[in-house]
Amino acid sequence: MPCQVKDDLVNQLIALNSKLNLLSPDLVQSEEERADVEQQRGTLYADLKRHRSKGHDGKPCPAARETPR
Ligand SMILES: [Zn+2]
Repeated sequence: MPCQVKDDLVNQLIALNSKLNLLSPDLVQSEEERADVEQQRGTLYADLKRHRSKGHDGKPCPAARETPR
């Protein structure tokens, strides 16, 4: 069973991951941006985890099993 909310969260995570990959580790200014993106990613992971466990009126997301992690 597909879930739009879960898909949105996963897509946002994918976008943040590719953004992180594009940041050059050599530049000092990307250091701050990296920390910023990593913080957003942590928040998204927490949201996704919460959604998967009880995001549907206190019940687990029916789509959670389709995506590992
Ligand atoms: Zn869901």
